[in-house]
Amino acid sequence: MELLNKPIYVTQPYLPPLEEFIPYLEKIWENKWLTNNGPFHQQLEQALCDYLGVEHLALFTNGTIALVTALQTLRITGEVITSPFSFVATAHSLLWNGLAPVFVDIDPATCNLDPDKIEQAITPHTTAIMPVHCYGTPCNVERIQQIADTYGLKVIYDAAHTFGVKYKGESILKHGDLSVLSFHATKVYNTFEGGAIVCPDAKTKQRIDYLKNFGFADEVTVMAPGINGKMSEINAAFGLLQLQHIENVIKRRAQIDTCYREQLNGVNGIKCLPQPSELANYSYFPVFIQPDYPISRDELYHKLKTKGIYGRRYFYPLISDFPMYRGLPSSARYNLPVAADAAEKVLCLPIYSSLSESDQMRIIECIVS
Ligand SMILES: *Cc1c(COP(=O)(O)O)cnc(C)c1O
Repeated sequence: MELLNKPIYVTQPYLPPLEEFIPYLEKIWENKWLTNNGPFHQQLEQALCDYLGVEHLALFTNGTIALVTALQTLRITGEVITSPFSFVATAHSLLWNGLAPVFVDIDPATCNLDPDKIEQAITPHTTAIMPVHCYGTPCNVERIQQIADTYGLKVIYDAAHTFGVKYKGESILKHGDLSVLSFHATKVYNTFEGGAIVCPDAKTKQRIDYLKNFGFADEVTVMAPGINGKMSEINAAFGLLQLQHIENVIKRRAQIDTCYREQLNGVNGIKCLPQPSELANYSYFPVFIQPDYPISRDELYHKLKTKGIYGRRYFYPLISDFPMYRGLPSSARYNLPVAADAAEKVLCLPIYSSLSESDQMRIIECIVS
């Protein structure tokens, strides 16, 4: 009897062997400390600082609340320059703070904010830039910092895709005023739900810790209308366990990345982003379907789907095309031609550590034939 192929999703979370998690649960049951900066929470903050090579990091319940809090930490007001080619949470974090997003087009070579187009979008109301290290590719951090310094702007990186990525030998998370990570189940490193803000000094970390706990500075002092952004002990414990496996997870993703590049190289109408030159995390494998490919991007997406292969049009539609953004002057098509083109052509292929070689070959054959 013929075996039916199991569906292949665009991503699958890495789950360590269940028995490895039991001792952590026993510890929580023993301590009865479930949240509010518990022992696993403290351990994970330290372990992540060590692993990522950063000085200070505050854990969060998810990346979106971390983005919202990062903006409050720096008291950002007015207009914020950001990328339309991202997950919708990037811009939503601005609306949740009553800020006005100003979309700037991306660089086709990286899918990151085009530094050449930032200056012309700055107005007297601009106070910050929120770039995204899209697919884990580092932004042009030097140029962005130079512009920020010239105009007196803050820089908050949406670094949701950038867990463990290095740039010029150092953590990419050291750039800008703050960087925000996501540990959602679909990301390279996950705590089921989770996130973090990376910050440069202890004073800022303290302010972030107040803001993520309703604004409590002590038992009787509330310093701002803070939110409940705390990570629970269960999530932190899972994060500690996950960290023991992360190197193998990234190694396997690197093999899958290499195999896609070898097999798709020279296929008419399939364009990949350049191979990352430094320590990357292989979080996504986007391809861009060109006009000389035999069928359209959407046709390929549906063709794969009929074979049980679920790619993802990530990022499509552009954030600037959603109803709460499309009326903004910066959302106009003529302002964002490169991003609009990328959104029409992009398809992210399945990449995750448990993707088998034979399943990857099934995907490739479907694209090539
Ligand atoms: C996943 C993601 C977020 C949101 O993170 P959550 O942890 O899911 O809230 C924000 N920005 C980008 C670019 C993302 O990919």
